[in-house]
Amino acid sequence: MKTPYITIDLDKIEHNTRAVLSLCRQHGIGVTGVTKATCGNPEVAKAMLRGGVQSLADSRLINIHRLQAAGIETQFMLLRVPALSEVNDVIAFVDISLNSEIDTLRALSAAAVQAGKVHEVIVMVDLGDLREGICPSEVLSFVAEAVKLPGIRIVGLGTNLACFAGVVPSVQNMNHLVELAHIVENTFHLPLKLISGINSSGLDLIAANTMPAGINHARIGEAILLGRETVHRQPWPGTHQDAFILHAEVIEMNEKPSLPLGERSEDAFGNHPAFHNHGMLKRALLNVGREDIDVPGISPRDQNINIIGASSGYLGLDLSNAKTPIQLGDVLSFNLNYASLLAAMTSEYVHKQTLSGGSKSKFSEISGERQ
Ligand SMILES: *Cc1c(COP(=O)(O)O)cnc(C)c1O
Repeated sequence: MKTPYITIDLDKIEHNTRAVLSLCRQHGIGVTGVTKATCGNPEVAKAMLRGGVQSLADSRLINIHRLQAAGIETQFMLLRVPALSEVNDVIAFVDISLNSEIDTLRALSAAAVQAGKVHEVIVMVDLGDLREGICPSEVLSFVAEAVKLPGIRIVGLGTNLACFAGVVPSVQNMNHLVELAHIVENTFHLPLKLISGINSSGLDLIAANTMPAGINHARIGEAILLGRETVHRQPWPGTHQDAFILHAEVIEMNEKPSLPLGERSEDAFGNHPAFHNHGMLKRALLNVGREDIDVPGISPRDQNINIIGASSGYLGLDLSNAKTPIQLGDVLSFNLNYASLLAAMTSEYVHKQTLSGGSKSKFSEISGERQ
């Protein structure tokens, strides 16, 4: 098999989906599965649908195209607010989008009218995380303009937290969203079917039974893919954290000093990495690097192996304490965090191997190439 590669355990993703959904369902919260960390991988999306998600969401149109080209039929949500330059494609391929710019809504409206469609919209409100969304004080004036536009239908109010600034979903900010939604409903006689409060950072609030009534929709990626809530990044009860595993091959084995030799300046990425003297090290170089992963976000499955550095194409390991003897050509495996999962799935140098059913040892290869 070609290295490096990432294995994707579809049964674990389906299982994680069920675990997250059963909690959300008990609290009247519908779940849209977010595929963006896998670049809209169709097999991952199908596993989420088998697990029961009501629709799929991604931040990029190209990923939504990929899902549709694979024959997946469901409702598709565009998470990133649309660019003015892509409104025609949004109308053509997406059922519902998140929005925060009135001019973009005007453009979507015109494109929808021309296409003879009605496009659904969730208006995003910024409740403190400082990414997308209008200010709470602007909600009424914004919706007053938006409801005049033909071709679009305001179906919900949403907010996104814990992404840009790490602001945690709380009883206060969730209540604020519910209150704003009720004001919109009453002012414009506009029933909102979606009050979309949370991503994977909101699971704690639900499990603690403190999620305000009214929040009825969640957009969940990481908790399904990596089995973690994202406030403390703790494993979510009943989920697997190892649905994705990275595998890379040893391409050099050597004994080298732990300290560099000669006058030192910055490394290939402009950093000044620190080295400590541990005498001679038993080292390996692997064929994966910063082009494919976020180095601090991977951890060797053998916890006695240490990462000592990386460049664009090499990962350097200290094998001095490795559990089993390692030789040239061996393939070593790593757990991934969200940043590394995103990078590895995006890298066309990392092959993608899906595993499922009884034939876990037989890999069914899916294309690692991007469109
Ligand atoms: C990425 C994203 C999500 C999913 O976040 P997770 O932490 O992976 O659950 C939800 N909503 C929006 C708007 C996003 O951009």
